[in-house]
Amino acid sequence: MSQPILVVAECKGSSIRRVTFEAIAVAQKLLQQRAGAVHCFLAGPGEGAELQQAARELLTYGASEVHLASSSEQTESNALASLKPLQSLVQQLQPQFVIAGHTAYGRELAPRLAASLASGYIADATAVELLDDGFAFTRPLYAGKAFETRSFTGAAPHIVTIRPNNHETAAPLEAVAAANESAINTLPASASPLRSIVREVVSRVSSGIDLTEADIIVAGGRGVRGSEGFQLLQQLADQLGGAVGASRAACDAGYCDYSLQIGQTGKVVTPQLYIACGISGAIQHLAGMSQSRTIIAINKDPEAPIFSIADYGIVGDLFEIVPLLTDELKKLGR
Ligand code: FAD
Repeated sequence: MSQPILVVAECKGSSIRRVTFEAIAVAQKLLQQRAGAVHCFLAGPGEGAELQQAARELLTYGASEVHLASSSEQTESNALASLKPLQSLVQQLQPQFVIAGHTAYGRELAPRLAASLASGYIADATAVELLDDGFAFTRPLYAGKAFETRSFTGAAPHIVTIRPNNHETAAPLEAVAAANESAINTLPASASPLRSIVREVVSRVSSGIDLTEADIIVAGGRGVRGSEGFQLLQQLADQLGGAVGASRAACDAGYCDYSLQIGQTGKVVTPQLYIACGISGAIQHLAGMSQSRTIIAINKDPEAPIFSIADYGIVGDLFEIVPLLTDELKKLGR
C-alpha cells in the first residue's frame, strides 16, 4: 500500500487553526502524483467533546483517518506531550511526509520528531513544487533576504513545517457530510513521564484574530507615539476585519504589548494586506513582514526605507491619514 502523509493538526481553543487546513492542502498536493491517504494527528486535553468535534471536522476536510492523543498534559502549549504518541504513530503508519505548521507548537515538535527518527527536516516552507523526480520546498534564509529550495534525500519519513498563510487551504469535501466515527482513533496514552509540565497558560486579551493568520494587518511603529495612537490603528483594523501589529520600537516604548511585535525577534506574518503606519522599515522589521502580498506604508518621511518595499506609499501624517481612511471605509460600508 502507498505511504500516507501525516498532518499534525493544531487547535486554538476549540477551533482548528487555519495552518492545519493549509497543511492538508499541501499533503493533497504532494499526493497528486500518486495514490495515498492523508492522516491527521491531533493532540488535546482530556476526553473532551471539542477534540472529537475537531476530529470530525478534519475528516470533512479530506483526512481519511484522525488519530487523537488526549491526556491532561496535551495542550497547544505543550508540544513535548505530543512527541511520544506522534513518534509511535509515525512508526506504525510509516508516512512519507509529516507536515506541521511552523507555529510555536510545530517548531517545538517537528525538530524533536526528526531528531528522534533520524529523519530529514525542512523548516518554514513557504512553497512546495512538484518535480518529475520528487518535491522541492522553498524556505526563507537570512531573515527573508534570500530563499533556498531544498529536496529530501534518504529514507522517509520526511518532516516539514509550513509557514502559516503561505499556502492554499483545503476545502471541505461535500461528499463527507456525515463524518465516519470509525475513522477517529484514540492513541494509547504515553507511559513516559514528561520532562516538563505546563501548569498554567495566561492568555493576553486580544481581538481574537491571530496575527500570523490575519489576512489584513495594520501595524504601528514609534511614529504612533503612544497607546492612544494604537487605538486609531485598532479602529482601522476593526473596520477592515484585520489585526493590529507593531514594530519592536513601539513595543519597547510601551505603546502596546510584545505579543504584537512583528519582525526578526517577533512574529513572521504574511497577510494579503499590510499597512505600516509610522514604521521606518528597519531590516529587522522587514524580516517579519516583507512577504506580505500588498504593503501600504504611511510615513511622513519620504526617505523612510519602508517605501522601498511598499507597493503603495502615502507620505504624510498618520494621525490625519488613518482616521480619514477609517471614515472613508465606514462610508463605503466596509
Ligand atoms: P523608528 O525607526 O524610530 O521609525 C519611526 C518612523 O515613524 C519614522 O520613519 C518616522 O518618519 C515615522 N513617523 C513619525 N511620526 C510620524 C507621523 N506622525 N506620521 C507618519 N510617520 C511618522 N524591530 C522590529 O520591528 N521587529 C523586530 O523583531 C526587531 N528585532 C530586532 C532584533 C535585533 C537583534 C535588533 C538589533 C533590532 C531589532 N529590531 C526589531 C529593531 C529595529 O532595528 C528598529 O529599531 C525598529 O524596527 C524601529 O521601529 P520603528 O520603525 O517603529 O521606529
